[in-house]
Amino acid sequence: MSARPERLASPRIDFQGGGAFYDELKARVAQHLADGGRVRRAQVRMYLKSATVFIWFAASWALLMFAPVTWWQAGLLSVSLGLALAGLAFNITHDANHGSYSPSRRLNRAMCFSMDFLGASSYVWRTKHNVVHHTYTNIAGADSDIDSMPFARLAPEQPLRSMHRFQHFYLWVLYGLFAIKWHTTGDFGYLIEGRVAETPIRWPRGGQLIGFWAGKAVFLSWALVIPILFHPFWTVAVVFGIASFVLALTLAVTFQLAHCLEEAEFPSAQEMSGAERTEWARHQVETTVDFAPRNPLLAWYLGGLNFQIEHHLFSRVCHTHYPAVAPIVREVCARHGVRYQAHRTLRSALASHARWLRQMGRRETAGVPVPTRAASG
Ligand SMILES: [Zn+2]
Repeated sequence: MSARPERLASPRIDFQGGGAFYDELKARVAQHLADGGRVRRAQVRMYLKSATVFIWFAASWALLMFAPVTWWQAGLLSVSLGLALAGLAFNITHDANHGSYSPSRRLNRAMCFSMDFLGASSYVWRTKHNVVHHTYTNIAGADSDIDSMPFARLAPEQPLRSMHRFQHFYLWVLYGLFAIKWHTTGDFGYLIEGRVAETPIRWPRGGQLIGFWAGKAVFLSWALVIPILFHPFWTVAVVFGIASFVLALTLAVTFQLAHCLEEAEFPSAQEMSGAERTEWARHQVETTVDFAPRNPLLAWYLGGLNFQIEHHLFSRVCHTHYPAVAPIVREVCARHGVRYQAHRTLRSALASHARWLRQMGRRETAGVPVPTRAASG
């Protein structure tokens, strides 16, 4: 059994300086984005999507609150509410907190608050996601997104426990429960501990502290307090439970399909602190996998998160550009010998994730490098 990587005492993770690969990527994508008409059309698409997912959320919530619905209609509306919340997270929250929602800084900042509206602090998210996950992608001990111990072993560096033999069955249920952590202890845990994985975080101050508590109050109001004024507590609890489960399952599976698959690399902290370490852009491409790039419905709903290679390279570019940027990235990767991988369908990405979970639950993979497979596409 391998030992858990040391936390704060682990070697300093670093990347090789930027090379010709990243320079060419940046130049080609900048050339693509130099077309003003193209940029304006992508921005209009973004605002239309935002309005659509917000109306979807508001309609689901209002029907649950005020329409005389039967129990099965309430069940379907709860699922719809959960999917609409995930749509808000994918299409508005994620981009806004990366600073890529709008060229207007004020609008961008306002939209960051959508994270607090969903029940998790945007202040904590920017450290956890933008800094920790986007910098230390797939490095055990440094990327908190792959740390779900003791329940899940997602990377070869993590210690194996006997329950992991069954993780490819039970994790799908646990994925649906993670939003409860968001809604209760998640933010407070990181702030009290003062770090996310190895990255320090301190309590918000001034306006950010007001935003933190205002966000908690707004979320509790629409999700629990107002519904309890009109409906029995137990029906509110059931609707909240279903919506929260659907939201969490949709988010967790989408993010797992980008990084926790057979094709993704999982470099260790030791490797990333030695002479063999890779450059940042190569690291981002080789620890990430795209899926279903030609599925227009998924490309619309997932807010570009099925194009995570492009997102990891250009997180400050609005996601409505990713389908057009992907062929450019693929071509530059091929020229520089960087492994660009994409599953053609959602189904094949799901199957690869399930196989990876099964592989990580086996004793023979503890402490030994796991060979990767090439994805289709
Ligand atoms: Zn991101």
